[in-house]
Amino acid sequence: MKQDEMANRMISSLGLPVSSQSEYCPDCGALVPVIPDGPVHRYFGASSGCWVLYAALLSREFSTFDARTHQLSVDTYAVQHPGTPSPQTTQSVCTHLVALCLSLEHEYGVEDIRPMMGDVSKGRFFTPVWLAAPAASVWPVTIVDLLDATSPEDYGAAVRQWAEATWQAWSAHHARVQAWSDGAIAAR
Ligand SMILES: [Zn+2]
Repeated sequence: MKQDEMANRMISSLGLPVSSQSEYCPDCGALVPVIPDGPVHRYFGASSGCWVLYAALLSREFSTFDARTHQLSVDTYAVQHPGTPSPQTTQSVCTHLVALCLSLEHEYGVEDIRPMMGDVSKGRFFTPVWLAAPAASVWPVTIVDLLDATSPEDYGAAVRQWAEATWQAWSAHHARVQAWSDGAIAAR
């Protein structure tokens, strides 16, 4: 089955009407179905088709729950959809980038990251600043690349690939995010 058919099927399974047209998500650049008047996230810059497709993937994540995969997935989706500058989006991007750094560069597990993120999101280690995201055209992996993975193992591997490619795409800001992460690690 082609990616767009799989995407349509997943969205329809949530009971939402899907049009036969596709559009590019403005933030991640994935080609996703158009959902007329569909729901959008409060501050992520995702199109409705992208956001709903992610919601459908999340429900699949919960049914075969792997906490580490879920953490990577949430952090990756957030930093691929930074939206426009505001106090909320600024904090969201910084916090999720630190979480990705702790997961991928330091191999911390969820049980370590969750308590650390509580302190990070309270602004204990740094003052969030707006970090300009890479242009959408450079995201090498997006949520549509997760659609082929049906087993929990394949899905976990696909999410890991998505997370690593996305973290690499943010390389212009790695030094700063690494310094923030070091602050969180030092305070453990
Ligand atoms: Zn998107």
